[in-house]
Amino acid sequence: MRIDGLMMDRPLMVISLMEFAAAYHGDCPIITRSVEGPVHRTNYAQTYRRIQKLAHALVALGVKPGDRVATVAWNTWRHMELYYAIAGIGAICHTVNPRLSPEQMAYVINHAEDRFIFLDSTFAGFVPGIKNMVKGVEGFVVMTDAANMPSAVSDENFLVYEDLIAPYPDSFDWPEFNENTAASLCYTSGTTGNPKGVLYSHRALVLHSYCLVAEFKFGPEVVSLPVVPMFHVNAWGIPYAAPMAGAPIVFPGRALDGESLFDLMEEEGVTCSQGVPTVWMGLIAHMRKVGRKPKKLESVVIGGAAPPESMVVAFEEEFGIEVNQGWGMTETAPLGVFNTLRPKHKALPKKQQIDQKLKAGHVVYGVELRITAEDGRVLPNDGKSCGHLQVRGPWVVSSYFKGEEDLLTADGWFDTGDIGNLDADGYLQITDRAKDVIKSGGEWISSVDLENEAMSFPAIAHAAVIGIPHAKWQERPLLVCVPADQNNPPTLEEVNAFLEPRVPKFWLPEAMEIVDSLPLGATGKVQKSVLRERFKTYTLGE
Ligand code: ADP
Repeated sequence: MRIDGLMMDRPLMVISLMEFAAAYHGDCPIITRSVEGPVHRTNYAQTYRRIQKLAHALVALGVKPGDRVATVAWNTWRHMELYYAIAGIGAICHTVNPRLSPEQMAYVINHAEDRFIFLDSTFAGFVPGIKNMVKGVEGFVVMTDAANMPSAVSDENFLVYEDLIAPYPDSFDWPEFNENTAASLCYTSGTTGNPKGVLYSHRALVLHSYCLVAEFKFGPEVVSLPVVPMFHVNAWGIPYAAPMAGAPIVFPGRALDGESLFDLMEEEGVTCSQGVPTVWMGLIAHMRKVGRKPKKLESVVIGGAAPPESMVVAFEEEFGIEVNQGWGMTETAPLGVFNTLRPKHKALPKKQQIDQKLKAGHVVYGVELRITAEDGRVLPNDGKSCGHLQVRGPWVVSSYFKGEEDLLTADGWFDTGDIGNLDADGYLQITDRAKDVIKSGGEWISSVDLENEAMSFPAIAHAAVIGIPHAKWQERPLLVCVPADQNNPPTLEEVNAFLEPRVPKFWLPEAMEIVDSLPLGATGKVQKSVLRERFKTYTLGE
């Protein structure tokens, strides 16, 4: 029914982002260091034409609205084409994390009931290993051309991406449907039990893009390089936000080491880049080696885990690169908070500015946050009261894909599993994840803060802290660390002498274990569950 005087009710469609970029920013570049090696150059106009060819090819394969089509792929222009073509025809792009074990990969593919899998040639070798476990998959398409088909799969009945799309016209009549239809699907990395699928609606992705453009300050002069993978929460939404802003995009393909990233940033004039702390360790090491930053790089976004202070200081003070932290989850599409300083913060001494930057960020319009106590009481935004972080908003999950249990609180909020506090300006400080928090004599110890302090000790390269049962204090912290020099590891006394002025006395690690490396999950985060398992017979205080 038409109501006089109201705005039009036009659906927010993912494909409209690319349609817009092609029409008005057609020559804006999309650059990829291809999986095969050479740099590939295209633009929004050409990409949109290829998306339309791909849409025809998908329809010809029999893909119907609501069907799931998987990708197992790096950040490349072809992956971006798949994002748009699959969503454009009303199907769902399921981005599979290639770092999963074959069993986990089969689990998510079967759970999603993927009909086709598009994969980069690097991953073609996996297929024989999982094929018997994913019987519902009707076909595999290798994201390359005939000349670059990997020889390892020549006897498999694989389709070649370029041959698949070649015969079709480059215009497609996009269907219009409800904006609350799913466009993509991503499973959480499973640090907490079986992976769970989050479906992103067209509406959520478009609204999230408006937010990202505003917060990341995207525009035609901002050249971004998302290191965060397109298989992890849609590369934080950058492949949708960049076209909305007519912003150039540089995809790193599979080479994510410090030197490769540095060279690509240097050659393509990248001005900002986004990734988890682990990748920045590599870039910082390389910048130190060559004694400078990539010449146009102005800022980096760090999210997915808290960056140690030493990392923020290295970027900001050693290399003059601005750091913006962000917090989010697979369940929040992911942007929940973003850290930019206000004028009053910029007037503070540098050390206090860095302290402010170590907070996860401030509330963004569209995501409501609250901190609750164990009994559900909402705690004040006083920058001190710590509790369970709960969120709500148009790009926050309401239930998991095929999930039967109620996910939200009785009053409709999503409990993130994170512990933190909010201040009066809406800045969030994450102190821990609910299951990682250490309770010593009834008091909370933040494992995140403790490990970050430990990592600022020069003799420690990487560290994690877990709780160990203790006869008197219930739990005490165990510091598991990778020394900077394996032949000369620090002692617990040396570490604690360093930590003593920096943390409350009862936080000081009770014990320390030296390891060669820490177990990292599929998205580069330390798997504390693996460490807890490894040290489960450890007891203290007997
Ligand atoms: P998973 O929950 O499977 O690890 P996600 O990638 O969705 O996968 O991770 C979301 C979690 O990552 C958050 O709940 C939080 O614990 C952590 N996280 C994300 N950003 C930050 C940040 N800036 N500071 C601290 N923790 C963060």
